[in-house]
Amino acid sequence: MTFRYAQRMARVQPSAIRELLALGADPSIISFGGGYPDATLFPVDKLDAVFHEVIRAPGGAALQYAPSNGLPRLREQIASLMRADGTDCTADDVLVLQGSQQGLDFAARMLIDPDDVIITEDPTFLGALIAFDPSQPRYATVPVDADGMQTDQLEAVLRANPRARMIYTVPDFQNPTGVTLSLERRKALIALANAHDVIVLEDTPYRHIRFTGQSLPTLKSLDTEGRVIHLGSFSKVLVPALRIGWAVASPDLLERMGLLKVAADTQTSTLNMAAASLFLDRYDLDDHIATLRSAYRHKKETMLDAIRQHFPQDIHVTDPEGGLFTWATFPEGFDATTFMRDVALPQARVAYVPGATFFPVTPRPNYARINFSAPSEANIRSGIAALGEALKSHFLS
Ligand code: PMP
Repeated sequence: MTFRYAQRMARVQPSAIRELLALGADPSIISFGGGYPDATLFPVDKLDAVFHEVIRAPGGAALQYAPSNGLPRLREQIASLMRADGTDCTADDVLVLQGSQQGLDFAARMLIDPDDVIITEDPTFLGALIAFDPSQPRYATVPVDADGMQTDQLEAVLRANPRARMIYTVPDFQNPTGVTLSLERRKALIALANAHDVIVLEDTPYRHIRFTGQSLPTLKSLDTEGRVIHLGSFSKVLVPALRIGWAVASPDLLERMGLLKVAADTQTSTLNMAAASLFLDRYDLDDHIATLRSAYRHKKETMLDAIRQHFPQDIHVTDPEGGLFTWATFPEGFDATTFMRDVALPQARVAYVPGATFFPVTPRPNYARINFSAPSEANIRSGIAALGEALKSHFLS
């Protein structure tokens, strides 16, 4: 039987890549494919303690409905984390979300009519495209280099797309490339958004996972006209299962997102919000983040060392200053999707994410996203060695 689906569902389709990645779930395969944090670093005992405590809170408070924009104490704590990071805001400016992913969905639903244009980095985060697609946007893209979105090309893209409504960016340790938007470009991006009257959607789940160098100001802190929607998340700095993210935005935008929150799911889980809030009161999140930074830095170095040792010379990888991913550029003509299906998975027993999927308009086949946070150090070494051998025989034959 075929049902008559709404038009927006034409863009809501399973992707071939997802099917390919599902093969990577086989335990005999070393996966560099996911974007998972290292589960061995989850603060299990501390989470156990806070959940245990809040579940017995007086009056069943943590088991009850809560305000749809989030528990007041948690909104305060998030505002204080934002202020400590240089972004001036109060609890009133914070909307608690079901992961930052929900903010991507809401931003598109709030701002995009069919055929309006969303400007993204090229490549960009696949999950954002999945969230935006039901709003039926068109995409226009701006290439990325070592300093993030090439803002000198953004102006031309804005001019060519009068229906541009939103610029989506992951400024810190971008997914998929790992690159960070320079300060100069942050300022240029804000100036162009002001000049062309578009909203900026700033998505920052990796922001605090910095290995080296100085933190750069958020776009929100550089926002002069209240047009930046900043998204943050506890997924990478605490645990993804809490499903707690947030938006910081000007009152008008935040109020409308709050209305979409009511429509979507009434509120984020009270229990999870209460546990996160008690965690922040009782423990030092910065200490935990320091542990993550040093563990992921070490894994990143292990991976890049292994890549230098085993990959053919003409494959370039980024050396990210933070985050969870490196991005490989293969020679022109190489197809990372067919190589994964025909060689990497069945022979090397290794998975990565073929890069084509991250390009919203014109897929480019010769790239791959490689994750270093989830696999163990031993698996990083043996998986990269196996992948390197497979690549060498491919390029020699
Ligand atoms: N944005 C980016 C760039 C991501 O990589 C992810 C997930 N890895 C998300 C948003 C969504 O994260 P969450 O909903 O878990 O906060």
